[in-house]
Amino acid sequence: MLTEAEGYDLLRKYDIPVPQYNIVKNGEDAATAAERMGCPVVMKIISPQIVHKSDAGGVIVGIGSRKAALGAFTKIIDSAKEYNPDAEIEGVIVEQQAEPGLELIIGGRTDPAFGKVITFGMGGTMVELMKDVTLRILPVSEEEIRQMIRDINAYPLIAGYRGSKPRDEEELVRIIGNVARFFMESENVVEFDVNPLRLYENGACAVDARIIVSDEIQAIEKKERIPVPMEFFTPRSIAVVGASQDSTKMGYAVMHNLLHFPGQLYPVNNKRSEIQGLKAYHSVTEIPAPVDLAVITVPAIHVPRIVEECGKKGVSMAVVITAGFKEMSEEGKILEERIVSIAKGYGMRIIGPNCLGLIVPPRGIDTTYVHQSPKPGNIAFLSQSGAIINTVVDWSLAKNIGFSNVISVGNQADLNFLDYLRYVEKDPKTKAIIMYIEQITDGKTFMEVVSEVAKTKPVIAIKSGSSRKGQAASASHTGSLSGSYDVYMEAFRKSGVIAVHTLTGAFLAAQMLAHPKRYPKGKRAVVVTNAGGFAVLSSDYAERYGIEIIDLPQDVIDELNAFLPEFWNKGNPIDLLGDASESRFEKTFEVLAKHGELWDMAFIVSFPNLVLTSEQMAKQILKFSARTENRLIATLLGGDSMDVGREILKEHSIPSFDELDFTYRVMGRVLWQKFRVKAPGLL
Ligand code: ADP
Ligand code: MG
Repeated sequence: MLTEAEGYDLLRKYDIPVPQYNIVKNGEDAATAAERMGCPVVMKIISPQIVHKSDAGGVIVGIGSRKAALGAFTKIIDSAKEYNPDAEIEGVIVEQQAEPGLELIIGGRTDPAFGKVITFGMGGTMVELMKDVTLRILPVSEEEIRQMIRDINAYPLIAGYRGSKPRDEEELVRIIGNVARFFMESENVVEFDVNPLRLYENGACAVDARIIVSDEIQAIEKKERIPVPMEFFTPRSIAVVGASQDSTKMGYAVMHNLLHFPGQLYPVNNKRSEIQGLKAYHSVTEIPAPVDLAVITVPAIHVPRIVEECGKKGVSMAVVITAGFKEMSEEGKILEERIVSIAKGYGMRIIGPNCLGLIVPPRGIDTTYVHQSPKPGNIAFLSQSGAIINTVVDWSLAKNIGFSNVISVGNQADLNFLDYLRYVEKDPKTKAIIMYIEQITDGKTFMEVVSEVAKTKPVIAIKSGSSRKGQAASASHTGSLSGSYDVYMEAFRKSGVIAVHTLTGAFLAAQMLAHPKRYPKGKRAVVVTNAGGFAVLSSDYAERYGIEIIDLPQDVIDELNAFLPEFWNKGNPIDLLGDASESRFEKTFEVLAKHGELWDMAFIVSFPNLVLTSEQMAKQILKFSARTENRLIATLLGGDSMDVGREILKEHSIPSFDELDFTYRVMGRVLWQKFRVKAPGLL
């Protein structure tokens, strides 16, 4: 860690205003420095072991005289010694006292996946308490810096709050820009914070700087990427190496799930000549016809030899299900590198190892050992966890959700998330992509690729590891204020990825965005319902998730008055009352469609009753959808009685949720992504 004085010198080089200072070793010199500088001054301890100086009683402000400076020197040294008897004390810094101002923090740290990141927020000694910070991955544009400033909750204090004059926002933009440049250009600086930066009506002054340098900078591992031909994912023949007749073996389950494959299937087993009713071969090379894909389930130690044989056979891709590689040990890592290099020699690609492999329901491919293969559909699911695939697939069967592809990425020794993203991007069956991510190694490349994919297909991500527990304690405020999870969230936001926190949310978002209309144009909403209770809940949820329930203009209310019962609520949410018939909905939808420029999305919330069947409801929603460019989101609440309606909507890709909170929450996440909507429920 650099000393405060060294920090000031660096900041000054980047044209960031800092106080004048002197370093002193005794009280006399402190007094002289204070006099020369002009009181009041601030004095602070200088010790490599004391990171947070205030905590150690190591900061005294408002020193107004020579005598006070003498006293302050002794007090600071004594307090520091009492705080940490082993601390080496290098002296005391005497600095000009800056005028009081709004205390802000500008910090930076190096993320293992995404590189240098800067944070900005409310500063001072209570930063951790306020936790009002935002971050950006470097480099940042001036526009992003301006956005960053407006992002924090306390922004009104900068813009001018309740009669207080606005602060010098332009100076702040300039300073953050220079700090970002300083961080980018200083390769050995790994982490820093300027806390506080005092912002005035005119100008600013940084009155503390903590800069951490390191000689061993861990470069982010960048892998050479060789594109994978699409045909590799559409094999006509598959060999299962390690296929088994023993139902307790992995090789049995994998073989079993592949029995539906309409192409050629070849079990390979060095002991048997028939497996699950098919002729088995002793090795891949013995198979008399071409093999496109090999699924390998034999123990890790044999995998290099099998990969070699597959290469000789001309196999284009191998799914290595076997575990016991990089995830397990150093030897495993070496073994893993070996299989990749063998495969490379033959131009063959590897999925896994330590994975479930791949399910392509529309092609009858399933190399996994899931209990039951999922149905074909339009969602691609890429997952870093095999267990989650098992769960999701099982759950999808009950929920009647289908997949275009399910890919378990495993150790990503060769093919990784990026290759799979590129594949599902081109795959015509895929309409939405869900990723379950634990960790990414090369964040920058990830952002590049996923940003492109997200332009044509919605990409939704769940990232595990949001809890602060277990995150390494950090020496700077910045380190403790923003964890790696926050950096992922920012990376997602910047690249157009919708971040969700639950699997259910991921699938709801995927269903919603798989519709050709995709995103709403803005955040203005109308709600139409036949349930007063849900009208009120709709307003609550909308507010919680940042959706704007518009006020209906008088002319629209007049038009509705013409046919709605006298006691309707004459507002939005539009409550059509419990006895609302099909035609009452129909006429209301007609009015709304006519005024489509007033709103961006309509939430239709209905509950089961005898006046209106779910089928009638669904038909009216379809009619409404055909009449408007805007997004419709249906929530048919209730049990099985609503299923008919739900099915009709589903056939027409109109999202229909069965829990109201989810409806608004998922839309809120979409709006967060598209329009940076901020709302209490989205934190
Ligand atoms: P710490 O190591 O505890 O972060 P700081 O150097 O930030 O110590 O000092 C603690 C507080 O003292 C600051 O948050 C700021 O409010 C005040 N302070 C420090 N230096 C000055 C200064 N030069 N002028 C005015 N106030 C100062
Ligand atoms: Mg400080």
